[in-house]
Amino acid sequence: MEYLNKADSLIREVEKTLAEIRDFDRNDTLKVGVDLGTSHISITVLSSEDKPIACSMEPAQVVRDGLVVDYSGAVKIVRRLKTEVEKRLGLELLTTAIAVPPGTSKRDSDTHRYVVEAAGMEVVTIADEPTAANKVLCIKDGIVVDIGGGTTGLSVFENGNVVYTADEPTGGTHLSLVIAGNYRIPIEKAECIKRDKTRHKEITPLVLPVVQKIATIVNTHIKEHRVKDIYLVGGTSCLTGIENIIKGETGINTIKPYNPLLVTPVGIALCCGL
Ligand code: ATP
Repeated sequence: MEYLNKADSLIREVEKTLAEIRDFDRNDTLKVGVDLGTSHISITVLSSEDKPIACSMEPAQVVRDGLVVDYSGAVKIVRRLKTEVEKRLGLELLTTAIAVPPGTSKRDSDTHRYVVEAAGMEVVTIADEPTAANKVLCIKDGIVVDIGGGTTGLSVFENGNVVYTADEPTGGTHLSLVIAGNYRIPIEKAECIKRDKTRHKEITPLVLPVVQKIATIVNTHIKEHRVKDIYLVGGTSCLTGIENIIKGETGINTIKPYNPLLVTPVGIALCCGL
């Protein structure tokens, strides 16, 4: 599984650039990716040879299910992240790639573009999210399951191409709701517990029905396809052992890359200028 080793080491390197930037050639044409997610907005910067240089992310509630619901809030966050990364790099970020979920209308993907352009970057590439994720994973055949905040997106790849996609409204928010209900705590507190690795063992039995529902969604959508492997991406895939539950429910080999939260953001940067 050489290709996942490659994906894992790329993600590990990007993760390090959250804390400190890497040396880079100031004359290089940098690749930039802006990810407008339901729970985070991020900017990732790579060299023209795909070496991680800088990454910054901020929690955000300005996009829901792929749609921008708070335009000015989104612009503010992208501008803030851009300024912060520029300060660290000592140069201006001029162009970027963005990504939208498959099937996003032209109008909605234009809104994503306007957000980023209002923050001061020219959008040179609009990728679709699974294609971006697969720039990191490099899979030829299999299904990428992106378990995000509001939804779970599925993309079946055959010969390196996306042949089927679906998006269903079950994701990390539903896990948080179950945790909040169980402990009778606010959802924000439940979010913190969910992201705390040391509490994953404790919360897994609580969120099991939601993860099983996600597996059922996968089963429903792959009926017509011969899928050998499932690849998990998206923040909710960070839940410890989620790959074993999905594997158990689907009977399909399930592979989780290192830090699945960063796969799509990095993939978007890899798409820049393509
Ligand atoms: P969507 O795909 O629905 O548009 P998004 O792109 O914002 O959402 P991601 O950023 O991939 O989604 O994932 C966000 C979800 O991942 C949130 O529900 C968040 O609580 C969850 N999450 C983030 N980190 C962790 C973690 N370490 N453990 C468990 N869940 C996590």
